[in-house]
Amino acid sequence: MKISYAKYSLTLRHQFTISYNSRSSTPVVLIRIEHEGFTGYGEASLPPYLHETQDSVIEFLRKAASVKSIDVTAYAKFLMYVDKISEGNTAAKASIDIAMHDLIGKIQNKPCYKFYQEEKRSLPFTSFTIGIDDPSVIKQKIKEAEQFKILKVKLGTNHDREFITLIREETDKPIYADINQGWNNKEEALDNIYWLRQKNVLLIEQPFPKNDLDNSAWLTGRSPLPIIADESIQRLADIEKIKNSFTGINIKLMKCTGVNEAFKMILRGRELGLKIMLGCMTETSCAISAALHLSSLVDYADLDGNLLITNDPFNAVTVSDGLLQLSDKPGLGVDLYNELKFIDIY
Ligand code: MG
Repeated sequence: MKISYAKYSLTLRHQFTISYNSRSSTPVVLIRIEHEGFTGYGEASLPPYLHETQDSVIEFLRKAASVKSIDVTAYAKFLMYVDKISEGNTAAKASIDIAMHDLIGKIQNKPCYKFYQEEKRSLPFTSFTIGIDDPSVIKQKIKEAEQFKILKVKLGTNHDREFITLIREETDKPIYADINQGWNNKEEALDNIYWLRQKNVLLIEQPFPKNDLDNSAWLTGRSPLPIIADESIQRLADIEKIKNSFTGINIKLMKCTGVNEAFKMILRGRELGLKIMLGCMTETSCAISAALHLSSLVDYADLDGNLLITNDPFNAVTVSDGLLQLSDKPGLGVDLYNELKFIDIY
């Protein structure tokens, strides 16, 4: 088994602004795992709030690659080993998980969704994200989102109602509202939610700071709309801590170490009666494809990360009438069409 990597920078189509941060690019590390003539691709996407860097990912890959005797077909065992290398490094771990899924799918000649379900089931519509921006840019973004049935709108500033009013001048599509921890008063939050519901907003994501579980529980008990945890939940073990404070959870591969753990989170979330969203960072269509293979198992899909960038080096995910198309090719179904220089790890 050989691991190699390429540092890459994703260029965002628009400056991306949420309640506490703004940026125009996202660093990633693309990885390749080769074994007996097969190649699996993976990715670590590194938005600043994850606190991982390209160098920390490469350092982590070195540790993972030091295991030479691993039976690659026992991939779950290998992923358990990888998880134990360190605390954290969730994006680095996800890159290995994603590449292993691609590799094993190719070796076994089956698409990744077949690891987790018998049949190819229908997928949910994905939402398309509109970040906080000037009115003219918002109009442009809504035009770009034309083929999508649901918008995801970033709120959490003092201008939330103006922002929604502006969008409602352009479109009546349903909206997922992501507050990104931007609210701090529970009564005001509830009042906002009743107003947002009238504007055809379907759910509220992460209204309060991530550790403010008391206010989240108060709001969830009274809200007419589902309240979904994002920043408050990273991995499987976190579900038990937040299960009484939210209606649902937003699972992202970069937070939870990849497809293997995301599937366990879906199962546990279902047992607890939680709604499940599958989300993403800005990512290439490599990581988006990996999430897509689980998306028929969830209630809400927010998998537009590759559509928000201008330099996706993979040719994978296509969209038809607001639905991302799931490939039946072996593995993730991704092809790298941009010749990147991968550097081997020994
Ligand atoms: Mg979010």
